[in-house]
Amino acid sequence: MTYDAVVAGAGPAGTMSARILASRGYGIKVLEDDPISGKPVQCAGLVSERVLGMSGVKPEVFGRFYGAEVIFPDGSSVIARSRNVKAVAIDRGDFDRRMADAAADAGAEFSYGSKYLSHESGGDEVSVTSSSGTDRCRAVIGADGYGSRVARSLPGNLPREYVYGAQYDLRHRADCQDIFRVRMGNGCAPGFFLWEIPCGDFTRVGLCVSAGKGYPFGYLNSMVRKLYPDSGIIARYGGKIPLGGRRTTYGEKCLLIGDAAGQVKPVSGGGIYPSLVSAGILADVLSDALDSGDLSAGRLSRYEKLWKAELGREMKFGYYLRKKFTAMDDSDINRAGRYSRRGDVRPALDEIDLDRSSDVVRAILRKPSAWPGALNLYLRSLF
Ligand SMILES: Cc1cc2nc3c(=O)[nH]c(=O)nc-3n(C[C@H](O)[C@H](O)[C@H](O)COP(=O)(O)OP(=O)(O)OC[C@H]3O[C@@H](n4cnc5c(N)ncnc54)[C@H](O)[C@@H]3O)c2cc1C
Repeated sequence: MTYDAVVAGAGPAGTMSARILASRGYGIKVLEDDPISGKPVQCAGLVSERVLGMSGVKPEVFGRFYGAEVIFPDGSSVIARSRNVKAVAIDRGDFDRRMADAAADAGAEFSYGSKYLSHESGGDEVSVTSSSGTDRCRAVIGADGYGSRVARSLPGNLPREYVYGAQYDLRHRADCQDIFRVRMGNGCAPGFFLWEIPCGDFTRVGLCVSAGKGYPFGYLNSMVRKLYPDSGIIARYGGKIPLGGRRTTYGEKCLLIGDAAGQVKPVSGGGIYPSLVSAGILADVLSDALDSGDLSAGRLSRYEKLWKAELGREMKFGYYLRKKFTAMDDSDINRAGRYSRRGDVRPALDEIDLDRSSDVVRAILRKPSAWPGALNLYLRSLF
């Protein structure tokens, strides 16, 4: 049998794409390296309510948050709080399993324990080699995560950078369950931040660090000793997040999505929202291409144009902000903290949208009174 598409990877990007295409009647096979969906988890599971709605599944929810407290290296902090739920902590393993079930219900075929190895295009077909054998299809979808082999089949296609993550679930019930915490500073999470997410009877504490800054579990262990000295570890997670995008997200009979496509929000490291947005676009472009019989790179290039029209501004501006942030030392971060607490700046933080977090900078800059302070921070980030 020749499938319309073989999807490498059963994370949210792969299962959402598979579900939409299969529900339209296309023959879809999903190859998943691991023996089951949703394990191992490499995620904090923090998403907006919008993401839950888009996913169409109802995973277990550990907590709902109306805001966040951001703590700066000098110990000062700012609290952003809204009347609306700003973020939800989900059981990411449960989410992935439900997404895979929904794709299977729509008609996608799953092969677990099947590692995509390579693919080769010949005539109208692609031959996909995996650890389980060979499949024939008309197109390959690379949804195989941050280390994507499918992405590497397109030359010069590594992400601009990775940040390295470490996370524990700790036996600790936080006093306040309706806001999560973020800590910044080079002594705690150089090049990124630390998160503390109350999840009822446990607290999820994790961080990421930039490449070359050391072992993330080293930073996490030292912060957990300081902040949660008496709390036992229930679960341990690690992982990498690709930031800054990849050179391309399409090729001859081939499309990339999710982490494999570098579709990650650069400020927060969140990748589930961009994956779900891109899955609808991928399915539309691929449906047209399959129906027309033209699966050339030229035809599929429309996918990149369309997903960038939807997400490119956040990706580009977010990555610009990230570069400014990584150029800051702790005294600059403290200065940014003082700026964020100003009367004409802080209210904008209450309206932050997890999926478009860089918009908050635009909202602040709409006020002329906020410009001089912002300019001062910008100039300091240059040197
Ligand atoms: C520490 C950490 C915390 C994070 N927290 C959040 C968060 O709170 N919110 C958020 O939105 N995002 C978060 N992210 C990012 C998020 O986890 C990813 O962006 C998201 O999982 C991307 O989905 P995906 O389907 O592209 O890739 P994945 O979820 O990584 O799925 C890829 C799948 O492909 C499989 N695979 C890999 N190689 C092959 C192969 N060769 N053949 C077959 N299968 C293969 C893998 O086993 C996996 O199942 C976090 C990441 C890390 C590391």
